[in-house]
Amino acid sequence: MSRTPLEILQKTFGYTDFRGVQAQVIERTVNGGDSLVLMPTGGGKSLCYQIPALCREGCAIVVSPLIALMQDQVTALCQVGVKAATLNSTIDPQTAYEIERAMRAGELDLVYVAPERLLTDRFLTLLNHCKISLFAIDEAHCVSQWGHDFRPEYRQLVSLHDNFPNVPRIALTATADGPTRNDIIERLNLGAGEIFITGFDRPNIRYNIVPKKNAKTQLLKFLDEYDEHDSGIIYCMSRKKVEEMAQWLRDKGYDALSYHAGMDQHIRKMNQDKFVREEGMVMVATVAFGMGIDKPDVRFVAHMDPPKSLEAYYQETGRAGRDGLPSQAWMAYGLQDVTKLRQFTESSELPERQKHVERQKLDALLAYCETHRCRRQVLLEYFGETMPEPCGNCDTCLNPVATFDGTVAAQKVLSCIYRTGETFGAGHIIDVLLGEENDKIIRLRHNEISTHGIGKELKRDTWRSIIRQLVALGLVRMDMEGFGGLKLGPDVRAVLRGEQTVLMRHDPDGRGGSRKSQRANRATIVLEREDDKALFEALRAKRRTLAEEQGVPPYVIFADATLIEMAKKRPQDADSFLDLSGVGQSKLERYSIDFMNVIAEFS
Ligand code: ADP
Ligand code: ZN
Repeated sequence: MSRTPLEILQKTFGYTDFRGVQAQVIERTVNGGDSLVLMPTGGGKSLCYQIPALCREGCAIVVSPLIALMQDQVTALCQVGVKAATLNSTIDPQTAYEIERAMRAGELDLVYVAPERLLTDRFLTLLNHCKISLFAIDEAHCVSQWGHDFRPEYRQLVSLHDNFPNVPRIALTATADGPTRNDIIERLNLGAGEIFITGFDRPNIRYNIVPKKNAKTQLLKFLDEYDEHDSGIIYCMSRKKVEEMAQWLRDKGYDALSYHAGMDQHIRKMNQDKFVREEGMVMVATVAFGMGIDKPDVRFVAHMDPPKSLEAYYQETGRAGRDGLPSQAWMAYGLQDVTKLRQFTESSELPERQKHVERQKLDALLAYCETHRCRRQVLLEYFGETMPEPCGNCDTCLNPVATFDGTVAAQKVLSCIYRTGETFGAGHIIDVLLGEENDKIIRLRHNEISTHGIGKELKRDTWRSIIRQLVALGLVRMDMEGFGGLKLGPDVRAVLRGEQTVLMRHDPDGRGGSRKSQRANRATIVLEREDDKALFEALRAKRRTLAEEQGVPPYVIFADATLIEMAKKRPQDADSFLDLSGVGQSKLERYSIDFMNVIAEFS
């Protein structure tokens, strides 16, 4: 008698309950139906096909475009005692031969393959000689040109259905807007399949955006919230900045690695592996880094430069906190960034229609950065979801932003730009508003114009923030041909006449909230007692040793969440050890003695 999905969840994977739609998806697949699963990163997609693979007779074929990720999945499955293997270009012929033999003999539960291999004649012949339980198509958005990661080989996957009409298929992705979703269904001929969608919210990620002043100092202060075991990613726009920032962080004593497309491939791979396998690494990278990184315990993603759209932001920040523990998406953002982004779009060679789309995407990103509302609400609305209440876990919820009627301030800036001839940058405009009498102002006789000194009531930083918001709103533009002077936008008349009010946000003072709210970002915040924390560190050290012995990443032994629970509950016998979330039969046998010894020493 085969085991039920729930028994497998509990005995093999060591979890108590299914999450969200998992149970429904699994039931459908076990019964032979096709489905498309849309779930955010960290939502628990893998179990949706791994459990049916164990319930159904035969071997499951999992198609995945990411070789690094396949290996990690297989390592994790072997840890829970599931018979899994991967076939890709990095496997030597002898091993591949052995895997193929095992498949024919029905000895494997799951095999991960790259799409280009799956569709070779050789492999299709092999499949005809095996019993196949299901096809799982991971990262299914790769089939669509609308998605951000189109892979032509994925298009061929539709033929699986023709060749094996009775084998259920399950396509999974974390990113699919409406058009991409429909495209996936059409391209894979999944019309008869059921669609399972869960919300895209990532409640454990705290969104936090600070007005950029001294970005490096602000970053250090942010990193201060973490300790030497926490890992994170820092995104910078250019390769040069990546190198510089990584070096600077190393000088400050951080274990900082770098990653960008211009690096030697070998070093790049080494850095990536180190980041995945070791604890406490800070990866400074361009957006080239991240695809296929399945590290569950990334505690923060920091943006030193803004992403190019909200889609990109959601994706890049989504690499934090796959394990569901508290994580943070942090960004420092300033006037120069806004103007740079606007400039990029305007000066690009794109046809006007596409430029229009780009402009809208940028507007959405800037509106998000400048919002005084709950960030999560704004973000989810952009993806077509509504969240009735503010989230309580973003900077604007934790430190509500005051707004003010900025109409008069806007008028002052606009007239000052106008009177000085629409040629000067923000620094000079602010000098004039503040009534400075420096050489440049005297030489240009800008101390004699009517807007000189009309802005003394506000501080320099406030004026910077106001100008930034005006650029974000499109009321102020950048001069593209010249030296980046500020110009009036096309629709300023209503504001100048006072017919349109401009609501603005007061930037918080940059201190970033109370101590308490800052510390809440650490994963171990759930441990309140000091000696539980000490025990957690000891358990973590044990996990590190075991991981090194086996040459696997620490998290495939136990997730942080399991260690945290272990430190709290301090199990002393097999039964209570088995009760921990993330401990199944196989991990009980492998590891309970080692970890219970650590606990015994502590008690
Ligand atoms: P995704 O592929 O959707 O990004 P994963 O499948 O990697 O997500 O799952 C994310 C994390 O959640 C993993 O650590 C996984 O073990 C855990 N997880 C998945 N389902 C459950 C569940 N029902 N109960 C507890 N933890 C779960
Ligand atoms: Zn919020």
